[in-house]
Amino acid sequence: MRVSTRTASFAAVLVSISLVLISATRIWGKEPTGKAFGAWGVDLTSRDLRTPAGDDFFAYANGTWLARTEIPSDQSSTSAGRDVFNLTQDQLRELIEASAAKAATPTGAQIGGLYKSFMDEAGVEAADAKPLASDLAAIHAVSSQQDFVRLMGRTATNFGSSVFGVGVYADAKKPVSSLYLGQGGLGMPDRDYYLSEGFKDKKDAYQAYIARTFSLIEDSAPDEKARAVLAFETEIAKASWAAADRRQIDKVYNPMTVEELQKYAPSVDWRAFLDASGLSAVQAVVVTETTAVQKIAQIVADTPLDTLKAWEAFHFVDGASPYLSKRFVDSQFEFDGKALSGTPEQRPRWKRGVSLIDDRLGEAVGQEYVAKYFPPASKGKMDALVANLKTAMAARIRIASWMSAQTKDQALEKLSRMEVMVGYPSKWRDYSKLKIDPADLYGNLARSIVFETAYQFAKIGKPVDKAEWSMTPQTVDAYNGGLENKIVFPAGILQPPFFNPDADPAVNYGAIGAVIGHEITHGFDDQGRKIDATGALRDWWTADDAKRFVAESTKLASQYDAYEGVPGAHINGNLTLGENIADLGGLLVAIDAYHASLGGKPAPIIDGLTGDQRLFLGYAQSWRGKARDDALRAQMASDPHSPRKFRVIGATRNVDSWYQSFDVTAGQKYFLKPEDRVRVW
Ligand SMILES: [Zn+2]
Repeated sequence: MRVSTRTASFAAVLVSISLVLISATRIWGKEPTGKAFGAWGVDLTSRDLRTPAGDDFFAYANGTWLARTEIPSDQSSTSAGRDVFNLTQDQLRELIEASAAKAATPTGAQIGGLYKSFMDEAGVEAADAKPLASDLAAIHAVSSQQDFVRLMGRTATNFGSSVFGVGVYADAKKPVSSLYLGQGGLGMPDRDYYLSEGFKDKKDAYQAYIARTFSLIEDSAPDEKARAVLAFETEIAKASWAAADRRQIDKVYNPMTVEELQKYAPSVDWRAFLDASGLSAVQAVVVTETTAVQKIAQIVADTPLDTLKAWEAFHFVDGASPYLSKRFVDSQFEFDGKALSGTPEQRPRWKRGVSLIDDRLGEAVGQEYVAKYFPPASKGKMDALVANLKTAMAARIRIASWMSAQTKDQALEKLSRMEVMVGYPSKWRDYSKLKIDPADLYGNLARSIVFETAYQFAKIGKPVDKAEWSMTPQTVDAYNGGLENKIVFPAGILQPPFFNPDADPAVNYGAIGAVIGHEITHGFDDQGRKIDATGALRDWWTADDAKRFVAESTKLASQYDAYEGVPGAHINGNLTLGENIADLGGLLVAIDAYHASLGGKPAPIIDGLTGDQRLFLGYAQSWRGKARDDALRAQMASDPHSPRKFRVIGATRNVDSWYQSFDVTAGQKYFLKPEDRVRVW
C-alpha cells in the first residue's frame, strides 16, 4: 500500500473541490501570503485591465499576478490554494518541531518521534536498502500463482501493491461501512498513460524508473524485468475503466458475496486473497469496476509468475522509497517529480517530513493546529454563511424549470437534512496504540500502515460514524460526503483569500461562498440525483427531470470539450461535468446569497467597483494559479476538476450578471448569447 496515496478504488464517494491537489503525485512547496489581498480582500494589482474581461476573464482578474509569479522550483504548480497550504505547512512545522524538541504529551512524543526518525538522514543513509531485505525475500519465495494472490492480500498491511484496490467506505444502500474492491495495479496516473501515444515519453520514463529500481536492489536483468512489468501493467490498463465511468456511483455499486465474486471472476482465489488481507470474517464485498476486476483476475492467471513477482518487488520498493536512503528518494523523484509533473527540484527534507506527519498523524497534529490557529469566531461566521447559501439554494431549487414538483420536494428534503461541518471534527482519533521509535523510520511507517489498515477494516459491517471526517482539519480543501449527506469545510480552507472575516462580504461570497455553493450543489447533480436525503443510493428524479437536466448539462459538457487546457489537449467535458456544474451552480447560489444579505439596500461602491464586480473578482482570485504543462496533462487525464483558468472562465460566461458587471459584448471571445448560456441552476 503506497503511503500517502488514498486507495482510489471508489472515486465517487468523496467529491472535493480540489484546491491544491493538481495531479496524482502530491508535491508541495511555499510562497508567502499575509496581507497580499488588498484593503478589502482583493489584490487589485493582480488584474490585467488591458485584457477585455470577455476575452479572458481569468487574465483580466489575475493577469499581472500570472506574469509576475513563477512556480517555485520544488512545486508542480502555484496558486492561491497552494499558498495557503504552504502557510499552513509552516505553522505545522513549528508545532511539530516543538514536539520534537520537547514532547509534553504522549501524542507529542509520537509526533516528535516520527518527525525525528524522518529527519535522521544519517541513520537512513546507514540503513540504505537493508530494511527491505526480509520483505523482498518473502516476494522471492513465492512459488505459485496461489501464493502470489496471498502475497497481494498481505500488501494491505505493508508497502506493497495489489492489482485489486480495497477500501472501506459507507455502503451505498445500507447504513453500515462495507469493503469495496476494484481495479488497481497501475503505477502511472491513469490508463491513458499506457494506451495513448501522447504519453509515450512518460511511459519511457516509467520503464526507465522500473529498471533503475531493480538496479538499486541489485536484482538481475533489470531491463528485461522492466519491460515485462510495463507490459503487464499495460494489459491491466486495457482492462481498466476510464475515469469518467468510475465516477458513476450507480455503476460502481455492485454488492456480491465472496461466493458470487468467485463465480464472477474465477481466475483468482478470493477467499485466499481476503484471508491474507486479514479479512477472514468478510462474507461480502462491493465490487466497483466489475469487468475490470474480472479481466485483471484473468490477466494475473495468464502472466508468468516471475513477472508477477518482479511487479510486486518493484512496487514494494517504490512504496518504501521515500523512507529509504537518498539514492532511492532521488530515483523516485526523477520519475514522480521530474518526468510526470515537470518539477525540477525535490522539496527540502523538512517539508516532506511535515507532510509525513500531516499524513500519518493528521488529526493528532490537527488538534494542536486548530487550538493555535483556528479562531473560534470563524466557525460562527461560517455557520451563518452556509445557512445563507442553503437558503439561496432552496430558492434556486424552487424555480428550477427542469425539475418537477415532486422532485423539488425531495430535493428540498435532501437540502434540509444536509449536515454542515466546519473547522474540525467533534471528536478526535486516538493514535495511542501506534508505536513510534525516533530511530526507526522504516519500522515506523510499516507499523503505521498496519495501524491504519486495522482502523479502516474494523469499520466493516458497523454503523457509519458521521462524525468522522475524510479530511484533516488543516486540509486546504472541502468536500461533500455524498453517502452521508454532509458537507465539510476544514479549518485549512477558512483562510484568506477564501475566507476572511475582515474582508468585504462580496469577496467572501465570491470565494468561500462559491466553494460552499459548489459542495451543496453536488447533492443535486448528475451523481447527487442518485443519492437520496438519507444518503442511500436511489435515483429520486423522474425520467423527465433527468431528460431535461441532461439536455442542459450536455451543453455545458460541450463548452468544456472545446477548451484547450494545455497546448494540444482538450478538457474532457464528460469527466469534468459534475465539477463544472458545481462550479457554475456554486457561483450562482453565492451571488443570490450575497444579494439577499444586502437586505434590500444597494451594495456599496468600493474603489469604484460594484458589489457584483467585487464578488466576481473574489471568485477569480480564489482560483488564480498556474501549473507546469505536464502536471496539467496529468490532471486532465485523471482528475474530474477542470484546470483553474477554465473553472473561472467556464463558470462566469454562463452567468448573466457577469456580462453586465464587466460590459461583455458580442464578438468577445467567451461571449455567449443568452440562449446559449447553460441554466441548470
Ligand atoms: Zn466538487
